[in-house]
Amino acid sequence: MFRTHNCGELRLTDAGTEVTLSGWVQAGRDFGGLTFVDLRDRYGITQVVFDSDDDAPLAERARKLGREWVIQVKGSVRERTNKNPNRPTGDVEILARELMVLNKSKVPPFTIEDETDGGDDLRMKYRYLDLRRNPLQQNLIFRSKLALAVRAYLSAQGFLEVETPNLIKSTPEGARDFVVPSRLNEGQFYALPQSPQTFKQLLMVAGYDRYFQIVKCFRDEDLRADRQPEFTQIDCEMAFVTQEEVLNTFEGLTRHLFQEVKGIDLGEFPRMPYDEAVRRFGSDKPDLRFGMELVDLNAVAQGKGFQVFDGAELVAGICVPGKADLSRKQLDALTDWVKRPQIGAKGLVYVKCNEDGSFKSSVDKFFDQEALQAWAASAGATPGDLLLVLSGDDEKTRTQLGTLRLHVAQEYDMIPAGAFQPLWVVDFPLLEWDEESERFHAMHHPFTSPKREEIDRMLTGDHDTMKSLKADAYDLVINGAEIGGGSVRIYDRALQEKNFQLLGFTPEEAEEQFGFLMGAFEYGAPPHAGIAFGFDRLCAVMNGKSSIRDFIAFPKNNQGRDVMIDAPAAIDAKQLRELHLNVTLE
Ligand code: ASP
Repeated sequence: MFRTHNCGELRLTDAGTEVTLSGWVQAGRDFGGLTFVDLRDRYGITQVVFDSDDDAPLAERARKLGREWVIQVKGSVRERTNKNPNRPTGDVEILARELMVLNKSKVPPFTIEDETDGGDDLRMKYRYLDLRRNPLQQNLIFRSKLALAVRAYLSAQGFLEVETPNLIKSTPEGARDFVVPSRLNEGQFYALPQSPQTFKQLLMVAGYDRYFQIVKCFRDEDLRADRQPEFTQIDCEMAFVTQEEVLNTFEGLTRHLFQEVKGIDLGEFPRMPYDEAVRRFGSDKPDLRFGMELVDLNAVAQGKGFQVFDGAELVAGICVPGKADLSRKQLDALTDWVKRPQIGAKGLVYVKCNEDGSFKSSVDKFFDQEALQAWAASAGATPGDLLLVLSGDDEKTRTQLGTLRLHVAQEYDMIPAGAFQPLWVVDFPLLEWDEESERFHAMHHPFTSPKREEIDRMLTGDHDTMKSLKADAYDLVINGAEIGGGSVRIYDRALQEKNFQLLGFTPEEAEEQFGFLMGAFEYGAPPHAGIAFGFDRLCAVMNGKSSIRDFIAFPKNNQGRDVMIDAPAAIDAKQLRELHLNVTLE
């Protein structure tokens, strides 16, 4: 037997018990005749002591142990004289009688501690060592618990977990596909699913009216901290339901998960139409943990001879509470920030609402105290506040302000720690017009239905009508992160054909790519709707983290590489030939 107990479970009540423990050497310390070894496994750390008065050769062997060696120790539990209140096992230690080295270890390239000295790249290369660290273990334990809670809740609600294939044909969800060459079918390729979208809809046609799956999805996108080329979704679909029932079901799931795993009652989720979210927060995923809503200033800022404002479709700002005392340097930094190409503003106008009731702005030449007073009144600013103002095209300016709002809140610590603010964003547009390519894109995906009352308009309307169509599409947003998204689906062939046509498919292309789905709609497809949650992101957000990487056991780096196994990698000429890939190798 390798162990009778793990390294996290022994307590004072176990004193006197003979035990066997196995684990990794976290650290060793020598005090004259006593050698202490902290023995670690995923359950905790237990102190082991070797006494040279008891057994000198044994103590000598203990002194030679290195960090991360795997050892087995037999001995008896006893009360510690020098207790460690920071450890659950801190009242006891094992007085060792036997020591067996199960495996040695090289000196690890970074310290296996909560705060490690290893840089990102090194830790990715030795991910199995990084995963020994407590914070990452806690993340993976959390993830496992969360997945279990999802399964328990959904299956109690009558959902069936059904697996769908990974080798499929492309499903457009707005990203590039990863493709897999077929050996048996020369010149043909599978695509890895961006989501199981069409399959879950086919399951509805097949009569499995409540489906879910915790499933890997693949999208070949440029990577950011909160994106991975392969990621996990809680993917769900229901038949014979309205949008209302979907929202209630998955609000129920989300509330249950927070309650069960975090002990937090989220209360009822507010709902906000897409248009309102963009107008008030400059974002379709507003962070409601703090205020600073966008305020329109056209009425007070235009017509005073300031060309930039007079020529703009929108002049709008945010009121930053208590920040009238920002220095020149800080304001310049904010200006530089909004001028970066990622934001793309031409400049930033500020108004300081001084404590003495006067105003100081960057446009004092055009606006006197009375005019600035009117701005402050429009924005609800009080003495001590700072107004930050942008202008330009309506949509762009709102987006820029929305981003500035988040930046200022983070920069100046205005986001309450530990708060969770969920909301549903609803009534998304069905289609998005892209000026550059002069075509429509699906705002959610091509299978999303317009609102019922919009169907006639969609089938008969003109180009401008199409721009104004609203969908029964919804996103779940928590703390400004999109946690889930879904929609009521089209289940009628003619409407699906119309949608593909609007999206620029020829009838032949639509048939070739999605004939199977439209064909299925002709065999009694029920009304259906669904949603998918980003599982990695949910884990991160529930822990107040922005990066999903720390919640994935073996993630890819920013270049989409797994630096541990060194993938992607070249394959040999024989494999290429078998796959009928005419790639010339140097
Ligand atoms: N397939 C969609 C997605 O991955 C979710 C859904 O519509 O159910 O975003």
